[in-house]
Amino acid sequence: MTARATFDTYDTILNAYDYFNAALFGGQLPEVIITYHRQRKVMGYASIGRWVNAQRQYVDELAVNPEYFAKYPLIEICQTLCHEMAHIWQAHFGKPGRRGYHNIEWAKRMTRIGLMPSATGLPGGEKTGEWMMDYVIYEGAFHRSCQALLAKGFILPWVDRYPVFRLEVPVLAYDDKGRAIELDAKLNAKNSSKMLAAKSSQAIASMTSEALISLDVQEETLRPQPAHWEGIFERDTNDESEQHLLQEILSSKPRAKSGRIKYCCKSCHIQVWGKPGLNIDCADCKQRMQAET
Ligand SMILES: [Zn+2]
Ligand SMILES: [Zn+2]
Repeated sequence: MTARATFDTYDTILNAYDYFNAALFGGQLPEVIITYHRQRKVMGYASIGRWVNAQRQYVDELAVNPEYFAKYPLIEICQTLCHEMAHIWQAHFGKPGRRGYHNIEWAKRMTRIGLMPSATGLPGGEKTGEWMMDYVIYEGAFHRSCQALLAKGFILPWVDRYPVFRLEVPVLAYDDKGRAIELDAKLNAKNSSKMLAAKSSQAIASMTSEALISLDVQEETLRPQPAHWEGIFERDTNDESEQHLLQEILSSKPRAKSGRIKYCCKSCHIQVWGKPGLNIDCADCKQRMQAET
């Protein structure tokens, strides 16, 4: 057994990040901090500028959920990674939608890297929206580079023993006519894929969504399909209270007794500081902001 299980686990995802950064984003994407999380129904998320060091350098967080690793094929983990990487690309080189909304610019970037955005995860679904899935474009850039990564022997060194339940649905890519092509373990088209392609894509679509629906029905016991969620934590370097807070965190000094307390919106996580006992709402979320002491 390796003595560096933590290192190996993070290093694997980081290597995949570097690989897809070079293969699909021209090596443009910045340094990130990889984290593992276990938030229900969420395969991954990107949190922009979430981390800071003593030199005031900001780094994004890219989180992945290990509960999806054991039962979901590697291609879907790479797919999640690249979905989040498209958000990171947009945060640095484009114009992200508000609160992680999947806008048209993001959708175009996804299409360019070979992942088709779709609200349903199937051909024909809406390409923009709050909650967004995506599917693999057959022989697109993502399909090709993921295939090459697996051929190099990419595997996860450690997997969660209690993964999210998943029905035995085939790994599919879709061609430009929306026809499903089943992939084997090496991501080549299966021999049976001619037969699959011959069926109408409608038949494949209904099969897949049925599988998803039956998962939804039994949500309490089985847990549903993967979903993505992102918090884009905006930072404001001119924000005096944030700078004070950073100063305190980085220098490990006790909090200054300013008499002010923090109020937090539980939906969008914005924070404001003020004297105790204020009644304030987050106008974006139409929700009372909670005092934190
Ligand atoms: Zn997303
Ligand atoms: Zn809010």
